[in-house]
Amino acid sequence: MKQLALIVDHEACWGCLACEVACKQENNADPGIKFIRVTEEAVREKNGKPFFSFNVNACRHSECEGIPCVDVCPTDAIAVRGDGIVVMDTNECVGCNLCPLSCPYDAIVINENESVTQKCNLCYHRVDNGLLPACADNVCLAHCIYFGDPRDVRPRIESRRMVRERL
Ligand code: SF4
Repeated sequence: MKQLALIVDHEACWGCLACEVACKQENNADPGIKFIRVTEEAVREKNGKPFFSFNVNACRHSECEGIPCVDVCPTDAIAVRGDGIVVMDTNECVGCNLCPLSCPYDAIVINENESVTQKCNLCYHRVDNGLLPACADNVCLAHCIYFGDPRDVRPRIESRRMVRERL
């Protein structure tokens, strides 16, 4: 079975935040809660011009080694599907906050108003109906967010990177 994840070509990100907006709209996230997060990492100089680099952070799903959040959850509120999508059911969450501590990618947010933790569920409600996750559905101005099996996607990112290097 194909293993699914969001794969981000971080070098190509423009920091437009369209993915954050698409995610919030799709998932009706509370104010201040983001399941995908773009942060500015550094401003460097490249070919005599300022070069901004960004990091796009969300749950790694099938690419997360060991998936520690599943192991620490005392109520089995987090589960891994056969396709590698890691789903959190907030209805089962008791707000113990162990999972954000376990996540090596800081991909789980604490929703203090609701006393639960939340994260990207890879829009499985869309994926199961043949759609792309909201952030990967052509909203990214830089086309840097891919969805699929990382084994298929990484070579495409690498060839795009090589084209950029030649420009
Ligand atoms: Fe891994 Fe963090 Fe995603 Fe859990 S939330 S699967 S620990 S990246």
